[in-house]
Amino acid sequence: MTPGGSTRYRLDMITCGGCGREIDAGGVEYGVKLMCGRCYHLQVNGPEPPRTLSSKTFLLLSSMCLLAMALAGLSLCVLYLLGTEDLGWFIVLTVLMLASLGCPAAVLARRRNLALLIASLYLPLGVWAYLWRAAPGIDWEYGKMTAYGGLFFFAVGIVAMLLFLRDLRALPRL
Ligand SMILES: [Zn+2]
Repeated sequence: MTPGGSTRYRLDMITCGGCGREIDAGGVEYGVKLMCGRCYHLQVNGPEPPRTLSSKTFLLLSSMCLLAMALAGLSLCVLYLLGTEDLGWFIVLTVLMLASLGCPAAVLARRRNLALLIASLYLPLGVWAYLWRAAPGIDWEYGKMTAYGGLFFFAVGIVAMLLFLRDLRALPRL
């Protein structure tokens, strides 16, 4: 397998952009979306795959985003502890933040579906951001922003989950 090359012109075989497996798309018409049966990655069947991300790039980008999230999220928890010295809430927030990161990390280990990944990150993150605002001792402007962010994250998470479920029901899985 050469990068971006040899599989492109083999009409019925496509390389999954999620797990890198070869998918026999023989029964599916060109231009029709399909889902990888193993990792649920979305792709379009056709001789010229519009998706140029390789499975490794997908994994790398997702991991880097999660790592950046982990750093930002955990520093917010520490910031809370430093600002309020409330250890109980600090533990609640930190555990929830770890859960917010653990969900997408667990999904990423087995599935490479972007909508599912976003849903598994943003739903718990929305709850976290809301709690971060609700936690005692946060009354500065930043807290208010985080609460709105929480609602926004939660809404994005729900939309992503609905999109994923719709695709899961509607698309052929090969
Ligand atoms: Zn796959």
